Amino acid sequence: MPPVINQDLCISCGQCVDICSEDVFFGSEEGRIPVITHPKECWHCNACVLDCPVQGAVTLRIPLPMLMVYK
Ligand code: SF4
Ligand code: SF4
Repeated sequence: MPPVINQDLCISCGQCVDICSEDVFFGSEEGRIPVITHPKECWHCNACVLDCPVQGAVTLRIPLPMLMVYK
């Protein structure tokens, strides 16, 4: 499942776009709230969440089966 961006919290810094190795946010424009164009590519690495300077601006929805192995 793709990440979710809270439009009220996001400051459009683009760090999640830069850190994502899977181009989930491909096509996002600099200075704007990122768009999720390749949701199925997200493998829940958590990098975007960890790199985001605003707590809660981007969150993951971990599929139930993956919760058993998710750290
Ligand atoms: S969790 Fe990882 S793969 Fe998924 S959007 Fe964030 S950085 Fe990309
Ligand atoms: S890193 Fe966080 S604040 Fe920056 S664009 Fe992504 S969701 Fe928004």
